[in-house]
Amino acid sequence: MILTHLHADHVGWNTREVDGEWVPTFPSARYLTSRIEREFWATYDMEEARKQMFRDSVIPVEEAGLLDLVDVPAEGVEIAPGLHLLPTPGHTPGHIAVELTSQGETALITGDCIHHPVQFAHPSIGACVDIDPEQSEASRRKLLGSLADTETLVLGTHFAPPTAGRVITDENAYRLAPVPAAPQTVSQ
Ligand SMILES: [Zn+2]
Repeated sequence: MILTHLHADHVGWNTREVDGEWVPTFPSARYLTSRIEREFWATYDMEEARKQMFRDSVIPVEEAGLLDLVDVPAEGVEIAPGLHLLPTPGHTPGHIAVELTSQGETALITGDCIHHPVQFAHPSIGACVDIDPEQSEASRRKLLGSLADTETLVLGTHFAPPTAGRVITDENAYRLAPVPAAPQTVSQ
């Protein structure tokens, strides 16, 4: 399990409630997030709803010994063959994007460093929940620049359909060239 960051909508189903207690949903899995991310929230002055989210969705995983804190250097880190974590801070301090390479093809899961395809054309547009808007913009520009005009398939975590596509240079910025899902074959 890779947690791109520790916002409420990205830790759901880490755990499930059993007899009034929150237990890891996947007790045989390792849960990974960046060390910077976990350490940031450890000292954050949380409002009650966020405290509750940590109590039900993060701390039970830690207490079960299943949460691995990963040091993510600027160039990224390979955590398994073909699976890289890329630092994309700003939305949260330890935010990571996830790059998957298999059989010569690469895909990139954005997490929340990009929320909407409009940010391809206007990377300066941030999300109101970005903790550091300037750093978020810098991460977005760097990531989009690295993906532009490559074959990497971008999977936008919060994008409405089409959620997948390639980054194309367009004037002074970029645009998303959607890649439709392969048609499903229905067996009769
Ligand atoms: Zn978020």
